[in-house]
Amino acid sequence: MQIIHRISERVDGQIQNQLSEIGIEVERGLVTFEIDESHPSWKKLEPMISAWRSVDIVTTKFTANELKNATYLRMAPRWHHGYPQPDGDFGYRTVSYNLANFCSTCGIGKRQTSPIRLKGEPKWGRRHFLQLNWIFDEYFVRPEVWEDLFEPIGVGCLPVVDHRTGKDLRTVVQLDIMKTESALQISDDQPFDTCTHCGRKKYRAITRGPFPSFDVTPTSPIQKTKEYFGSGGSAWNAIVVSSDLFRQISDRKLKGVHFIPCDRMTS
Ligand SMILES: [Zn+2]
Repeated sequence: MQIIHRISERVDGQIQNQLSEIGIEVERGLVTFEIDESHPSWKKLEPMISAWRSVDIVTTKFTANELKNATYLRMAPRWHHGYPQPDGDFGYRTVSYNLANFCSTCGIGKRQTSPIRLKGEPKWGRRHFLQLNWIFDEYFVRPEVWEDLFEPIGVGCLPVVDHRTGKDLRTVVQLDIMKTESALQISDDQPFDTCTHCGRKKYRAITRGPFPSFDVTPTSPIQKTKEYFGSGGSAWNAIVVSSDLFRQISDRKLKGVHFIPCDRMTS
């Protein structure tokens, strides 16, 4: 596992000298550089970027073995494509969701009751999975991927509708992913927000290290977490798959998603 920080900072002479003193040479001006937490200068750099309030985007790279050995893995999108329709004024929410429990301040609580509508067939390119913009807790696949991979393991699919004609699209279906009852073992220092309007809790996206494991091992090969993630008005449940499903997706070289191992906490 490699934890990588992509740091952006406006570098003046003073900052340039401070960085140089810990062995990091950069130009002046708006600078972006990447550093791994195993780098000898990281421990010295960490308090500096915190004091400067630098932009710090954290990602984690896992080894093939770490992915292979995980019992469960979070499935994350490699791309976002298209917008649910109608896209004006978030009209898709009222068309495709029951909003009785929905809070527009934090984005938690909408429940899908009708098919998602799109402007037309997705432009898949060479990919097999897609995630839409705005809806970060659903996956869409080509129908042949659903038949080959998901139907045999009991995962349903929902039609996706052409917004203009009202007819089902031919090259895309939505995976019908259920929410698990099991809580995640999230560490106490994981940042979260409590909604000022509805009081519900939403975690910031977890990008450093593995994803948390479940309290109770799930019975489904693919499920949504009951916990919400996101910031501002965006809220989504993470999608977690079994090692077996991960292996099948990897063996078929299906594109459009990547994986983060879930780690069972020992304490
Ligand atoms: Zn709320």
